[in-house]
Amino acid sequence: MRIGQGYDVHALVAGRALVLGGVRIPHARGLAGHSDADVLAHAVGDALLGALGEGDLGTHFPSSDARWKDASGALLLGEILQRVARAGFGVANVDATIVAREPRLAPHQAQIREGLAKLLGVEATRVNVKLKSTDGLGAIGRGEGIAAQAVVLLERVGA
Ligand SMILES: [Zn+2]
Repeated sequence: MRIGQGYDVHALVAGRALVLGGVRIPHARGLAGHSDADVLAHAVGDALLGALGEGDLGTHFPSSDARWKDASGALLLGEILQRVARAGFGVANVDATIVAREPRLAPHQAQIREGLAKLLGVEATRVNVKLKSTDGLGAIGRGEGIAAQAVVLLERVGA
């Protein structure tokens, strides 16, 4: 078995769609950044790469490379999952936390979990998505952005 953790944060800005775990969340603002800035998918992607001992998203998918410029979180996770499979592993489970003051994500929690499971090609029972605010503290507490953390466990396929 292999374990990995990931972390990501993006700023909330006007004029962008908000996508978390591949799920479009209705909100006046979305996350800034390269491609869909799916902060949850990025944290999970980094956790998967970490579990493989293969660096991070920035190394594999540099924003300077036109190929990845508009790559969705779903596409990045798809590429990383191929690496996981080639290494002889599958996703045992994922536990993630989204840290956001706004929008209120509780009504979307189940949908985000399902969405993330779909991106990972696993049953939703293998995925957990937790929600935190920061009690109004710091940049995220002021609604300036959204952060995500994830831990993944990989298991040998067929073991
Ligand atoms: Zn990111």
